[in-house]
Amino acid sequence: MSKKYRGKGLIHLPSRGRGTCPMCKTRRIKLLYDVILNDGTKLTVCKRCRHKK
Ligand SMILES: [Zn+2]
Repeated sequence: MSKKYRGKGLIHLPSRGRGTCPMCKTRRIKLLYDVILNDGTKLTVCKRCRHKK
């Protein structure tokens, strides 16, 4: 569980866990963290955005 987002754990994810972060718009970054917004929208964001709202 602790290394869920490293190495082989990424291979089965869509695009291997990479994409454009919906919050900071960085492309081809690893999107690993689910964030639930105040309005209930669920986003998958990069590590830099995981603590932001
Ligand atoms: Zn981001």
